[in-house]
Amino acid sequence: MPEVLTFDAVVVGAGPAGAAAALALARAGRSVVLVERGPFPGAKNVYGGVVYGRVLDDIVPNWWEEVPVERWVVRRSTMMMTGTQSLSVDFRTDAWGSAPYNGMTTLRSHFDAWLAGKATGAGARLVASTVATGLVRDGAGRVVGVRTDRDGAELHAPVVIACDGVNSFLAKEAGLLPRAEASHHTLGVKEVLDLPHGAINERFGVQDHEGVDMEILGCTREIPGGGFLYTNADTVSIGVVVSLPQLAASGVRPEELVADLKAHPTIAPLLRGSSLREYAAHLIPEGGYDTMPALASDGMLVAGDAGAMTLAAGLWLEGVNFAIGSGYAAGRAADRALAAGDCSARGLASYRTDLESQFVLADHKRLRKAPSLVLSDRVQQRYPGLLCDLAEGMFTVTNPTPKAGGLKLTRAAAARYGVSLRQLATDTVRGLRIFG
Ligand SMILES: Cc1cc2nc3c(=O)[nH]c(=O)nc-3n(C[C@H](O)[C@H](O)[C@H](O)COP(=O)(O)OP(=O)(O)OC[C@H]3O[C@@H](n4cnc5c(N)ncnc54)[C@H](O)[C@@H]3O)c2cc1C
Repeated sequence: MPEVLTFDAVVVGAGPAGAAAALALARAGRSVVLVERGPFPGAKNVYGGVVYGRVLDDIVPNWWEEVPVERWVVRRSTMMMTGTQSLSVDFRTDAWGSAPYNGMTTLRSHFDAWLAGKATGAGARLVASTVATGLVRDGAGRVVGVRTDRDGAELHAPVVIACDGVNSFLAKEAGLLPRAEASHHTLGVKEVLDLPHGAINERFGVQDHEGVDMEILGCTREIPGGGFLYTNADTVSIGVVVSLPQLAASGVRPEELVADLKAHPTIAPLLRGSSLREYAAHLIPEGGYDTMPALASDGMLVAGDAGAMTLAAGLWLEGVNFAIGSGYAAGRAADRALAAGDCSARGLASYRTDLESQFVLADHKRLRKAPSLVLSDRVQQRYPGLLCDLAEGMFTVTNPTPKAGGLKLTRAAAARYGVSLRQLATDTVRGLRIFG
């Protein structure tokens, strides 16, 4: 007989979602076990580099005084590029450089370990280097625990919270996540490059602990996606996020796209003399609201990327804050269900209601049409070049020929990229409706 340990709740995955869920349960006085396959929380976790901290305000008061930060983001640049041009909307504010801050670059091996430490500090039990290999069900088919790869030991509880990340194996086994659609996923690939602290400050126009977040469109050849560049203390994270099926169909290797971006005339001078420290790749669930699984079943909740909660809506790539928000809400819903003695799907239904009333599902719902616009052929393949050409036309001095008007330049740039003015106007209105 395998060893069986019994708790009030089992949380699988000690990423941001799992740590937050375990923290909420432990604070409520519940016995909770947090199972993590890596040797420590964050050991295996991959992301771009920016965590937006507002979600932590109510969970860890004054979190900024202790969080393992690389740099506080004070500049946010949205860049469109072609092979030879770039056009940026570059925003900088002192407001983001002091408490309570807006966003920070942080390394996942540090951040995830810190957040999981909050959960264990509150009484959660962390079991690392352990894989949850499957669900345990009772005679009525309700989920009542997980099996593990530790000599088949089982962890039993009236409620299991699956925080095992994208393509959740547990959510699939529970029948909550239908067959994974490649078109609902992107592949993120990134390099971390060593660059001295002083060189980063000089080249990116920041000082001390200030940092920069750059999101880039037009850098992924014919494949829908985008790029990013984030500054850490003495490294820079650079990478691309691209549509999975179109990457496969293109035959292009993702590292070629990162190499293109690093060699771009706007980016290369920023990285001169840097050296590769690490390379990583990971899937992102980018389908948004319409592709989320059911979030509760009898004895089980799903949070974070396991519930497809990354917000990837063109201007934003936010997953960690959505994972923390949903994980904490799952922990609290589990506590309410335990108190009521009803951990059925019905007893756990307050989880979804809670998420709908806060940013996690409210933002997803409002931006549910964003992925189709942002990943459209025009936004991906035509508008970056069109806007760069427009800027080049506006700023190129043509003496003795008089300056061309904006409408004439727009018409010419639109024609070069095969876009009608009507289509441009329609997409502008559509964008305003989605993002406005
Ligand atoms: C390239 C890239 C760039 C990104 N950039 C950003 C960004 O800049 N900012 C941002 O906010 N988000 C970003 N994201 C998204 C963000 O990484 C995710 O949304 C976030 O990590 C989700 O947290 P999670 O806790 O749900 O899942 P994860 O962080 O994936 O954690 C899941 C955990 O479960 C563990 N696990 C999995 N299966 C099992 C099992 N069977 N048994 C035990 N343990 C298991 C894993 O080891 C892991 O620790 C990016 C993602 C990628 C791929």
